[in-house]
Amino acid sequence: MSKRDFYEILGVSKSASADEIKKAYRKKAIEYHPDKNPGDKSAEEKFKEAAEAYEVLSDQQKRQRYDQFGHAGVNGAAGGGGFGGGGMSMDDIFSHFGDIFGGHFGFGGFGGGGSRGGSRVRKGSDLRVKVKLNLSEIATGVEKKIKVKKYVSCQHCNGSGAEHGSDSTTCTTCHGSGRVTRVQNTILGQMQTQSECPTCHGEGKIIREKCKYCAGEGIVREDEVININIPAGVMEGMQLSMSGKGNAARRGGVNGDLLVLIEEEKHPQLIRDENDLIYNLLITVPQATLGDAVEVPTVDGKVKVTIAAGTQPGKVLRLRGKGLPSVNRYGTGDLLINIGVYIPESLNKEEKNLMEKLSKSENVKPNSAASKDFFSRFRNMFE
Ligand SMILES: [Zn+2]
Ligand SMILES: [Zn+2]
Repeated sequence: MSKRDFYEILGVSKSASADEIKKAYRKKAIEYHPDKNPGDKSAEEKFKEAAEAYEVLSDQQKRQRYDQFGHAGVNGAAGGGGFGGGGMSMDDIFSHFGDIFGGHFGFGGFGGGGSRGGSRVRKGSDLRVKVKLNLSEIATGVEKKIKVKKYVSCQHCNGSGAEHGSDSTTCTTCHGSGRVTRVQNTILGQMQTQSECPTCHGEGKIIREKCKYCAGEGIVREDEVININIPAGVMEGMQLSMSGKGNAARRGGVNGDLLVLIEEEKHPQLIRDENDLIYNLLITVPQATLGDAVEVPTVDGKVKVTIAAGTQPGKVLRLRGKGLPSVNRYGTGDLLINIGVYIPESLNKEEKNLMEKLSKSENVKPNSAASKDFFSRFRNMFE
C-alpha cells in the first residue's frame, strides 16, 4: 500500500506556509471528525491521514526530511519494512488538538457530551538511538536488535500508579480541573495565565496510596531489546521514527517515539555518492594497453570486469545496478569504476630498453583525434 503525498492530503502546495498548513488541517479535521461522521470508516481513515500529514508538515525538521526523502525520511519504509507501526492512534491525534484549536480542552467544537474533553492525553518522551551500519547492511536493509534503557508501564499497578484498590481524591489545589489560573498585573493591564496544576500535574486527582514499585509514577525504567527494521538505502544523518516505541508516559498516556539516527561506516574501498558507488581503480600500462580482466569490490563480494585493450586513463566503467537501492524504492544506483593508469616511476635497464624501443613506434604516439577524445573527458580542456 503506497502512501499519498502529504501536501496532496491537506490540499496545499509544496510552498505552503505553516499557517496555511494549519488552516488546511483544521478544515480537514472538522470535515472528517469522528463525532461528525459516526461509524464512517472512510472518514476515520481520512481523519487519520490528515493528522499524519499535519504531524509531519507542521514540524520544520520533519517537513524538510519529508521534502528530501519522501515518506521514508519521516517514517521509515512506507508500506513495508515494518517501520512506523501503522501511523498515529486516535489518542495521538486528539492529544495534538489543543495546539490546533486553541485552549487545552482538546477538541471543543463537536458533539456535546465532551467525551474527549477534559485533560489532554499525556505522551511519553521520545527516545533517541544511533545505529551504525556498513554498506552491505545498507544495500539489503537490516534488522538490528538494540538494547535501550527506557520507561515502561509498571507491571505492579498496570501503569495506574495506584497501589491496588487505592482510589484517588480530587486535587485540592485545582479542584479537579488540572489547571491553575494566575492573574498578573502587567503594563498592558491584568493578564490571566493558565498552567498545569503543580500538585496533580494536570490530572485533577491525587492517588491516596501510591504504588510502591513505581512511587505512583505508573512507569519504571527498564532495559528493553528493540528490533529495528532498517530499510535498504538509508544514508548517514537520516532519522527514522518508530511510533510508540519510545518512553511510556506517566500513568497511562501514550508512548513516545523511538528516533533512530543512521550512521554510516566508511567502506575501505568504495565511496558512496547518493545511490551510486565509486571505485577508483589503478591499472598498469601493460593492462591498459593489452587489456585484462580485474577484480573489483562491490557491496556483496568481488566481481570481474574486463579492461579493454587501449583503455585510456580517466575512463569510467559503469556497472548498472551494482550501487545501492534508493530508500524510496525508485531503482538502484550503479557502481562507477574510475580508471587511472599507473606510469612506472623507476625502471631497470632492461625495462628502459624496452620502453625506448617502444617509443620509436608510431603507434604509441597520440594523434590529434586521440588527443581530442581523451581530453573530452575533462571540461574546458580543448577548444
Ligand atoms: Zn506501579
Ligand atoms: Zn491539581
